[in-house]
Amino acid sequence: MQAKVHSESDVVVAGGGPSGLIAAIAAARAGAKTVLVEQYGFLGGMATAASVGPFSPFHYDDQQITMGIPQELVERLMAAGGSTGHLKCVPEYGSGSYMAYFDREVYKTVAFDMCLEAGVRLLLHSFVADAVVDGKVVRGIEVTNKSGRQHVLGKVTVDATGDGDVAARAGAEVKWGRESDQLAQPMTMFFEMANVDVDKVIAYIEANPDDFEWTSRLYSRTPLPKSINQTYFVAQGFRKSVAEAKAKNELNMGRDTVLLQSTMREGTIVFNSTRVGKLKGTDADDFTKAEIEGRRQAMSLAAFMKKYVTGFENAYVSSTGIQIGVRESRHVVGDYVLQKDDVVEGKRFADVIARGFFPVDIHDPSGSKGYHAGGSTWIKPKGPYDIPLRCLMPKGIEGLFLTGRNISASHEAHGSLRVQGTAFAIGHGSGAAAAVAALSGVSTHAIDYRKVQKLLLSQHANLELEGIPADATA
Ligand SMILES: Cc1cc2nc3c(=O)[nH]c(=O)nc-3n(C[C@H](O)[C@H](O)[C@H](O)COP(=O)(O)OP(=O)(O)OC[C@H]3O[C@@H](n4cnc5c(N)ncnc54)[C@H](O)[C@@H]3O)c2cc1C
Repeated sequence: MQAKVHSESDVVVAGGGPSGLIAAIAAARAGAKTVLVEQYGFLGGMATAASVGPFSPFHYDDQQITMGIPQELVERLMAAGGSTGHLKCVPEYGSGSYMAYFDREVYKTVAFDMCLEAGVRLLLHSFVADAVVDGKVVRGIEVTNKSGRQHVLGKVTVDATGDGDVAARAGAEVKWGRESDQLAQPMTMFFEMANVDVDKVIAYIEANPDDFEWTSRLYSRTPLPKSINQTYFVAQGFRKSVAEAKAKNELNMGRDTVLLQSTMREGTIVFNSTRVGKLKGTDADDFTKAEIEGRRQAMSLAAFMKKYVTGFENAYVSSTGIQIGVRESRHVVGDYVLQKDDVVEGKRFADVIARGFFPVDIHDPSGSKGYHAGGSTWIKPKGPYDIPLRCLMPKGIEGLFLTGRNISASHEAHGSLRVQGTAFAIGHGSGAAAAVAALSGVSTHAIDYRKVQKLLLSQHANLELEGIPADATA
């Protein structure tokens, strides 16, 4: 059956995760006719589909780096009773300087509202199966949905699938994982347990610091509404009981410690603890194996918590991700590949379109170890760094911008920019770039980055342009 044309727009955004939804809002607000395509019936990406949370910082130390539309989203969530806003994390090791907790269900509605208010056309339940190309020029995407096969065409397409699906289908060069063995960060099935006696859990953590790799408390700078005013914490540990249960074959978990934290809902704890490595989220058979193994680990860990950990005696699994969380997949090679040193040294670029700040945070790609045991990596940059527009341009491919976690970056640089705060900011940059290219009819590789920056500043993004050295590259 021949695919039918669904629509022709200025900008097509493929994928409605944090970077895609902000990209669509930015492009539409700039006057571009914009359509946002998503495989699920809601937006939010890993946060809503894989239960990932909270939003890692918009901050470097106490300095807020990400602003503009992403900050507006946080404020809209707060106004709807769906976020704590940015809480200061003390100490920041393991989590970053601030975290904003959110309610997934409120997020789904607020994301729709903001897109529709901006004039974005939504196309949900539509899987991007292919790129519509003319040689090396992307003309849009082909989706499969209840209507059959449809072409969603646009002057400019933004690949916000997280996995670089559009770029790969269009023939872009892609790389995988770390340089030494091409292994990427592991996948994780998130799950929540409700009916937890959190006071008991916190009392145990405080009384047994040696049993933990790290722990933090989170504090609001302003009073929180009564309904969400509770003790927020994050901790990684239960080393002794994990070792004991593993020795007795009572626990199937891909890491050697439990990483757990608060949610916005009292008595409910979320686990970022299962680990499924050495499989690809872009390979259908691997992805299937990962879902099965992720769920096995989640249920095994829940049983362990009930048996071994004080406070969980009456708890139960209240939700799991709709899909396993994919941290890292294809790295699409762009006009510039962001490197570890750029991140760690806080490098500035003349064509900055977003700023990053999060530590390089790499979960052990080949095993179960945490930061202290040497398998995982945590390196704090010397300062915020720039993400240049060139990282959004797939090399040799026209009509397409990358965004979010699939922009052009090394495994190590990706380890920093992958968090939601930066994904939002990159989304803002890619949406502005797409609008500028589509509305001016200029090649996606030749647009004037100053015009993109001007648009971003008018939408209240924070680019700190005045601090860029005169010899910075673009
Ligand atoms: C296990 C795990 C833990 C994490 N912990 C944190 C944390 O604590 N704090 C934090 O800030 N970040 C965390 N992250 C990182 C963060 O969630 C992601 O890196 C971020 O969501 C990336 O945003 P994105 O928009 O680039 O991609 P994604 O969030 O992956 O969104 C991609 C979107 O595109 C859609 N899509 C994909 N392919 C297709 C297709 N072919 N057709 C149609 N739609 C498609 C997806 O459904 C999704 O909505 C974690 C990630 C994982 C996996």
